[in-house]
Parts: sequence; structure tokens; C-alpha cells
Amino acid sequence: MAKKIALVTGGVRGIGAAITRELIKSQQYFVIAFGTNTERCQKFVAEEKAKGLADLDAINCDVTDFAACQKTIAEIFAKYKRIDVLVNNAGITRDKTLKKMTKEEWDAVIKTDLDSLFTMTKPVLEIMLEAQYGRIINISSVNGHKGGFGQTNYAAAKSAIYGFTKSLALETARKKITVNSISPGYIETDMMRDIPKDIMDKVLAEIPVGRIGTAEEVARLVAFLADEASGYITGADFDINGGLYLR
Ligand code: NDP
Repeated sequence: MAKKIALVTGGVRGIGAAITRELIKSQQYFVIAFGTNTERCQKFVAEEKAKGLADLDAINCDVTDFAACQKTIAEIFAKYKRIDVLVNNAGITRDKTLKKMTKEEWDAVIKTDLDSLFTMTKPVLEIMLEAQYGRIINISSVNGHKGGFGQTNYAAAKSAIYGFTKSLALETARKKITVNSISPGYIETDMMRDIPKDIMDKVLAEIPVGRIGTAEEVARLVAFLADEASGYITGADFDINGGLYLR
């Protein structure tokens, strides 16, 4: 049987790269990762293929650009004739207190972390509705639930993901399409490097399991939700944060 096609935005770095690898390793998917830099995309594909992860392509496509996403997704569908899984993972931070935050910093985060759900999901959904099958997984954040100092833009976008997820889950439930979100806590990636050390020390002290999470741990949860056997899970959000949210 032909492998399922999975799209992972921000799929060549950080949590997204781990998701890409985990899906390929399951042997169920050919993964197309979206990034913002052609050279990085090509390098990622070459490196992963050298490691034996052959079911992979990576494409330079800005998830804030609706026309580009529509065109890219149409091209993918024309080539592979299916899209079974969409992981909306791309995201950025531009942390500042609202007092200091510029309109550009607000807009950049809302466009990348929230508008991208529309730009990617809208064209993919048409294909999934036609096929009457799909798995959509949106990556939110623990700070979508609890807010974060200096993160009015980020927390607003990540919180909005829950409303999007639940509403679309209702709209697609009868079509065998599931829509869920995952809210990671602190996960070791490039994004974490922007957090000042003094703040990170305080965060670590508050994580009940006493450590930062790994991208691979998030990826395992994505693979579980992406599986065909997970069809009774929809409209749900999953915390993966070492117990941080228990506080
Ligand atoms: P990274 O900063 O390591 O990677 C971000 C990814 O998003 C990159 O692959 C980047 O692509 C991609 N990206 C950014 N802007 C765009 C765009 N306009 N179009 C396409 N791709 C884009 O982040 P993480 O791996 O840490 O984060 C992944 C997701 O997990 C994000 O949504 C983040 O908010 C969420 N998250 C992360 C946590 C953490 O602690 N790390 C905690 C909670 C949630 P490129 O490689 O081309 O730059």
C-alpha cells in the first residue's frame, strides 16, 4: 500500500524535525517538511537520507503566505494524490512586555503562529474532506493555557489554537478527520536559546520532573495522534510539560 503523505510545517528544525523523523521511522508516511530556507531544507533532506530516512522531502514555503501555501499544497497533491496528515508546528516568539512590544512584533507572531493555521489547513482540508480521512495536529504551548510574562502576542496566538482546534474538530468529525492540539512545556530547541538564563533557572525549579523536555518526546505524541487507530480522539489538547501545568 502507498505510504500516507504527512506535511510538517517548521519540519526541518527543532520539534518539527523530530516530528518529521518520528513519522518517517514509523514506516507509515512519506513526510514533506516545510521550512523558510531552501539551503537548510536541502541540507536536512541530504543528512536524513544519509541516516536512512529516505521517505522525505523538504520545501521552502512561508506559512504566513496564503497564496504560496495554496500553490505548494496543490503541487504536492498533484504529485502524490493524497495528503493524510498535517502538523501545524511552525512558530516564532518575539517576547516583550506589551508596553514595549511593537506592532511588527505583534503581527509577526500572530501571522506565523496563528494565521498559519488558516493558510495551511484551508487548502489541506479540501483534500481531506474529499478523501474523508485526515489527521490535523496543531502545536500550541503551555503558555497558551497559562500566559507568559512578555508573551501577550505568543500566548494570544497559542490560546487561539484551542478554539480553532475544537471548532474544526466539530466541523470534520463525521468525515473521519480528527483535529487535536498539543501544548508542550519547555522543550530543548533553538527557541529556548532566546530565554535568558536567570528566567530559565526559575523555570527549571518549577518543573516537577526536574528537567527540560526533548523534541523527540513531543514527536512521539504527534505520531500517536497521527495514527489511523487514534480516530476516536478529536478536539482535544494534550499537555506534555513534565508536570509544569499541575502547579
Ligand atoms: P524552533 O525555533 O526551533 O523552530 C521553529 C520552526 O518554525 C523552524 O523550523 C522554522 O523554519 C519554522 N518557521 C518559522 N516561521 C516560519 C514560516 N513563516 N514559515 C514556515 N516555517 C516557519 O522552534 P521549536 O521547534 O522550539 O518550536 C516548534 C513549535 O513548538 C512552535 O510552534 C513553538 O511555538 C512550539 N513550542 C515550543 C516550545 C519549546 O520550548 N521549544 C514550547 C511550547 C511550544 P526554519 O527552519 O526555516 O527557520
